[in-house]
Amino acid sequence: MPRLHLKPGREKSLRQHHPWIFSGAIARVEGEPSSGATVEVLDAQGAFLAWAAFSPQSQIRARAWSFEAKERIDATFFARRIAAAIAARAPWLTGSDAARLVHGEADGLPGLVVDRYGEVLVVQILAAGIEAWRETLVAALLRHTGATVVYERSDAEVRTLEGLPERCGALHGELPEMVEINEDGIRYRVDVAAGQKTGFYLDQRVSRQRVRALAQGREVLNCFCYSGGFSLAALAGGATSVLSLDSSAPALDLARDNLRRNGFAAAQAEWRDADVFSELRRLRDQARSFDLIVLDPPKFAPTAQHAARAARAYKDINLTALKLLRPGGLLATFSCSGGIDAVLFQSIVAGAALDARVEARLIGHFEASPDHATALCFPEGTYLKGLLVQKG
Ligand code: SAH
Repeated sequence: MPRLHLKPGREKSLRQHHPWIFSGAIARVEGEPSSGATVEVLDAQGAFLAWAAFSPQSQIRARAWSFEAKERIDATFFARRIAAAIAARAPWLTGSDAARLVHGEADGLPGLVVDRYGEVLVVQILAAGIEAWRETLVAALLRHTGATVVYERSDAEVRTLEGLPERCGALHGELPEMVEINEDGIRYRVDVAAGQKTGFYLDQRVSRQRVRALAQGREVLNCFCYSGGFSLAALAGGATSVLSLDSSAPALDLARDNLRRNGFAAAQAEWRDADVFSELRRLRDQARSFDLIVLDPPKFAPTAQHAARAARAYKDINLTALKLLRPGGLLATFSCSGGIDAVLFQSIVAGAALDARVEARLIGHFEASPDHATALCFPEGTYLKGLLVQKG
């Protein structure tokens, strides 16, 4: 069994069960582990720390599978982890036939994401260790879910950091052109093969429920609407109208289709193919106003290095959105940037309110839905945060 010997003092995070081992922490590699191979990780005194998967090309040189010396990393181990991940979701699966079943580090499977859309599973394999156990994991997923299709969407950029090629396609069964899900009574069509992420923003389910509960009688603006998630939730909650903006034509086509299929009146919803930054200004110049605005932009800051530029972008859209709100109106504003933490995000929105000369109160917080759990000792796993703000 190949071994990683850590430098003195570099064992601390592993002892706290943080699963990443950076290349700079490694004093010496014993043996010649191949990409994805299981290695034993030892501290500078030679004491056991973890079993881990070796990623020769990545700065994250290894990811821990287990902190138990007696554990065997084999097919049974992965079947157990998959079963545990699925069992942990049981309380959150009611009301929807779509959910994240495996969320990487939180499920002891760093580098693996599995989303369920009805009978279709979509897997993302983002690290060399998971890649090495691909067939075993797919077999375990099929056994524990009864799914009829498994489709791979390993086209995320992080794969290049692992030295892995992009890979998309069916691993089991045949993918229908569109998959339909039912989330809290709203039907959405999901484009698994060509949609964003694995096809749908499952992490926003609880936020959509909240927006739905707040929408009664309100005129709504949904920025970065994608396939219409928040727009349809607002209409289901009794919004009088929704204006939705996105710069992706295929996303808007899907959103229009979703509106029709749920039987909402076409006149209640307007979809605009537009850049949110300039469209918000245009709406302001036209003196438009709204009772509820959702801002759910893409990741402006993947890492902390991008934080300063991203902060300006967040401030820009929040500032204009606050101006567009009527007094007493609500802003649901989000950031899914790992490089912007919750404290920084709040200070950006506070700065936006100040510059907009708007009195605003913080009503509550949003976070990723519970099927996107994070490991307690792995703060890097927390990415989605949101604020519910009321204009004075
Ligand atoms: N709120 C959505 C998810 C938003 S994802 C949901 O709940 O499903 C971010 C969306 O922003 C994507 O659909 C992308 O097409 C769109 N987008 C990215 N940059 C944009 C821009 N500058 N203007 C308008 N839309 C943009």
